[in-house]
Amino acid sequence: ATPVAIMVGTGRGAEHGILIKSAEALEALCSINTVVIDKTGTLTQGKPQVTDIVLCGAESEEELLKIAQALEKNSEHPLAEAILSYCKEREIPLIEIDEFRSIPGRGVEGYIKGMAYFAGNEQFIKEKQIDINMAVELSDNFSNEGKTPLYFASAHTLLGIIAVADVLKPTSRQAVQKFKQMGIKVVMLTGDNPKTAEAIRLQLEIDEAIAGVLPHEKDKKIQELQSRGQKVAMIGDGINDAPALARADVGIAIGAGTDVAIESADIVLIRSDLMDAVAAVELSKATIRNIK
Ligand code: ADP
Ligand code: MG
Repeated sequence: ATPVAIMVGTGRGAEHGILIKSAEALEALCSINTVVIDKTGTLTQGKPQVTDIVLCGAESEEELLKIAQALEKNSEHPLAEAILSYCKEREIPLIEIDEFRSIPGRGVEGYIKGMAYFAGNEQFIKEKQIDINMAVELSDNFSNEGKTPLYFASAHTLLGIIAVADVLKPTSRQAVQKFKQMGIKVVMLTGDNPKTAEAIRLQLEIDEAIAGVLPHEKDKKIQELQSRGQKVAMIGDGINDAPALARADVGIAIGAGTDVAIESADIVLIRSDLMDAVAAVELSKATIRNIK
């Protein structure tokens, strides 16, 4: 590639809020055949809302919400924020929690008045030997609608389920289609459960969903694709995504992403719009074609 062509390409990108950090990135982007996209905050807006509440062992909605609020108030997860803003609107009284712990990709736990409580995904609650049979069907229904069911339990009993849903970004579907038209395989990567991921995969017509991935395992999933000969671009926004962005042939950080993600990426999109990632690939193809 001639330096002048690269400069022109990079300059054109910058005009459109596509910051390309190196000539290598622009060249590599031209030959990717797989794009891996993070779900929360990248395909979706990352501002989930509570949609449904189901009581199991809890006596009342207020009791469940009091415990949920106590567990989630120290968590920085977007799912926690959904619960907290819901509780705040309903003026749920704050109660104390001790020994709070956050288990990445799983949930949170702590003690209220000396009793252990848990909040998290199905797997996390199952690991605590809590019987969830009565709620599995209900929870699957939520997942099939693309919602994320969160389980709340005391040491021995499932108290209830709070379903939370995130809105897809308006251009996500179109961007997926464009990638596919360019002959690029589209893969979604998420820590969310496989059923919810599948519902969203179908809505967006994504080729493949890799779900239930723990935060520190995202980069391994990229490596697996690469070892099968794929040239991979990864698009993400979070701290969790930084190692995967670094591992990918081209890492693309999106929008209001975290500093770590922006640092680990080869390309930074100023706006939070996946169509800009499509534009970046088109730009690289146009630039490299001009040189050849
Ligand atoms: P994502 O990739 O969607 O950002 P994470 O890897 O952070 O997801 O989390 C995976 C799953 O772990 C969530 O879908 C949720 O079920 C559970 N989880 C994580 N943090 C919390 C929390 N603070 N409260 C309840 N559940 C949580
Ligand atoms: Mg994310």
